Amino acid sequence: MPGGESTTILKLMQKFNLAIPLKELARSGLPIWGTCAGMICLAKGVYNGMEGLAVMDMSVKRNAFGNQINSFESNLPIPPLGDEPFPAVFIRAPFIERAGPRVEILARLPEGTAVAARQGKLLATAFHPEFTSDLRVHSYFLKMATSPERRQ
Ligand code: GLN
Repeated sequence: MPGGESTTILKLMQKFNLAIPLKELARSGLPIWGTCAGMICLAKGVYNGMEGLAVMDMSVKRNAFGNQINSFESNLPIPPLGDEPFPAVFIRAPFIERAGPRVEILARLPEGTAVAARQGKLLATAFHPEFTSDLRVHSYFLKMATSPERRQ
């Protein structure tokens, strides 16, 4: 699920009757990766009261770092990707405020803020790996998607 504007994406999912089928597919084990607004769509709780698909047991805060002008890049350590930090691009990004026991936090900013997580075959990144030429998150998702079945 792409970045963009989660309010719009979620409204369109409702309007075109995609929300329930997507929830069912996620729960039945379809691998889904959400970046930024996509991460918000996967979450159970959204700070401003908006309803996500609620397939990942975590709460997120939208626009958690400020406005467009507060967008930033960070050399982010992501241990499952190896020792080399990942060039993470954050654009009006959310962060993860609460994660349930089935959610594994994959990355944190230096001050401890959680910005990437996995639950079974669901992957969420607050940043945009597609804006860089570093394909390690894409590879990680493909490995996750093809690994033996795990409950979400
Ligand atoms: N701020 C957007 C939202 O709340 C997300 C921005 C993005 O996807 N880059 O949905």
